Amino acid sequence: MTEAVRHEFHAETQKVLRILTHSLYTDREIFLRELISNASDALDKLRYHQASGTVPASFDASMPLEIRLSADKAARTLTVSDTGIGMTEEELVRNLGTIAHSGSEDFMQAVGDKPEASSIIGRFGIGFYSVFMVADRVEVLTRSFEEGSRALRWSSDGTGSYEIEEVEDCSWKRGTEIRAWLKEDASEFLEDFRLESIVRKHSAFVPFPVLLGDKRLNTTPALWREPRFSVTKEQYADFYKFLTGEETEPLDTLHLSVDVPTQFSALLFVPGTEQRNFGPYNDHWGLDLYVRRVMIRREDKNLLPDWLGFIKGVVDTEDLPLNISRETLQENRILRGISQALIKQLLGRFEKTAQDTPEEYEKFWNLHGKVFKLGYSDFLHRDRIVPLLRFNSSAFDAQTKLTSLDGYIERAKEGQKEIWYLAASGREGAVSSPYMETFLRKGIEVLYLYEPVDEFALESIGKYKDFTFKAVEHADSSVLDAFADKEAKTGGAEALQEDELSAFDSLVASMRTLLGDQVKDVRVSHRLTDSPACLVADDGVTSSMDRLMRVMQKDETIPKKIFEVNRDHPLLRNMLKMYRNDASDANLEDMVRQLFDMTLLLDGYMRDPHDLVQRMNRTLEKASALYAKNEK
Ligand code: ADP
Ligand code: MG
Repeated sequence: MTEAVRHEFHAETQKVLRILTHSLYTDREIFLRELISNASDALDKLRYHQASGTVPASFDASMPLEIRLSADKAARTLTVSDTGIGMTEEELVRNLGTIAHSGSEDFMQAVGDKPEASSIIGRFGIGFYSVFMVADRVEVLTRSFEEGSRALRWSSDGTGSYEIEEVEDCSWKRGTEIRAWLKEDASEFLEDFRLESIVRKHSAFVPFPVLLGDKRLNTTPALWREPRFSVTKEQYADFYKFLTGEETEPLDTLHLSVDVPTQFSALLFVPGTEQRNFGPYNDHWGLDLYVRRVMIRREDKNLLPDWLGFIKGVVDTEDLPLNISRETLQENRILRGISQALIKQLLGRFEKTAQDTPEEYEKFWNLHGKVFKLGYSDFLHRDRIVPLLRFNSSAFDAQTKLTSLDGYIERAKEGQKEIWYLAASGREGAVSSPYMETFLRKGIEVLYLYEPVDEFALESIGKYKDFTFKAVEHADSSVLDAFADKEAKTGGAEALQEDELSAFDSLVASMRTLLGDQVKDVRVSHRLTDSPACLVADDGVTSSMDRLMRVMQKDETIPKKIFEVNRDHPLLRNMLKMYRNDASDANLEDMVRQLFDMTLLLDGYMRDPHDLVQRMNRTLEKASALYAKNEK
């Protein structure tokens, strides 16, 4: 026997190991699920090589493809062995010495807020290491199926390092055996009945026999190949949990079996939890692709577009060759055909849910809408996606209520030709926006868009049925004047006399001079009721969109807009009086600048608040002096 070689674990791996062994105490049983799933993966890979004819000449086809468990109470060891592809020395170091991605920061955070082993281990692809939750020493005996490979023993106590040595007189032909020396408090995993119940609970769908002695513990077949009527709701839910490692039920299940033009069966799930599977560390999306029950690719990303990336499931087809790794045109055509069929089926299901059970559809939207709505850019399917979009709007009093575009159109006013929208970061900002005043007064519904992508989507869609999407800040007063106010105005400002009107015009002219090239123009507003002033763009880009583009282009300048003032607002009326008393009053200048800065602030363009604050302090000081004097 050659010398054992000592290797240090990567720092990241050490951290994760420390957490696994010291922080996770609940659900420890899932370590077994992880070991069995690794064994099953190794068998899948082997079966794939076998089916596509890429095994070496010495390959022993008579060895059964199976997974065996055995417990030795005297030695306190539990063994999980498989006849899969095994590992070479290089693979051992890579696979059991490092962590696939550098997500240990995320990992530790997740442990921080929810120390439940099962959800965490599933999410971070650290299955193998979970054995250290129950073991204080682990040996991995493995031999790769490759020609001439030797047997190796990997061993570690799960702290700083591990050792690898060659095993010379090994009768094994191929496969892997994991032997775990169980901790004091983990004796339960030496009991057959306990092992059996864990396998039934977590590994029922493993596609290879899992044996304990002579007893096969898993019996459930490839569920997607079974006739629909014979599968129970519980079986579907169990399969979903097996597939995803989730503990919650799926929101919806689609079981398909198609013969023409391409034969395939599929079992698809709409998860009951939000999927955070798009990110720098997490690319876990896509469907598992089987050819004649042989797993070909996990998380295949050709079968569904990314806007359906939250869907989980498997697809199994007879029509592809097993060695599809060299992607030929023919194969691509078949995959594309399957993909189109899947998309159609899913959209059909969403449409039906939206129609028959709107509450269920809202649940779907709240969980997956963020991803699903990106489908607006898929021109092939846009026409079916747009009616499925949902929005909060001014027609409801809560942010949680949603409408479809059809719902909006049903409520639209006689003669209305636009679907109005306003981009805002939240409901409060939307409702209090000056642009909303006319719309609220007239009871014209406005869609509130809370995510930047919504505005891009509506702009790119352009029209729905006979209605054009339009931002409220681009509303033309002549268009809105056609609609009556909800209630007749009561009170309101007194009408101005002719001389006052012309004085107001010259006040506006002096504002124009004062603000100079900070604005395109200053105008009397027809859209405002409660606010004294607002900014309006005349170039068809909304301020939210403009802000976003400036961020992307790193443009720090402030755009020039039209400054609109509300002639009927008490503040402007007071300013008019001041102006008529003394047109060069310095206080008046402060007020104009202040008013302008506050509109910038509301529109999100304020960069340097110093001037604004100084002016505000000056104004408050004067106002308080006036109050104090009047009180006397
Ligand atoms: P994952 O299964 O998500 O890749 P694991 O930590 O469970 O992460 O396993 C790490 C890697 O170790 C696997 O990807 C595989 O390459 C290798 N491995 C683990 N167990 C076995 C086994 N029984 N046979 C062959 N390779 C294995
Ligand atoms: Mg694994």
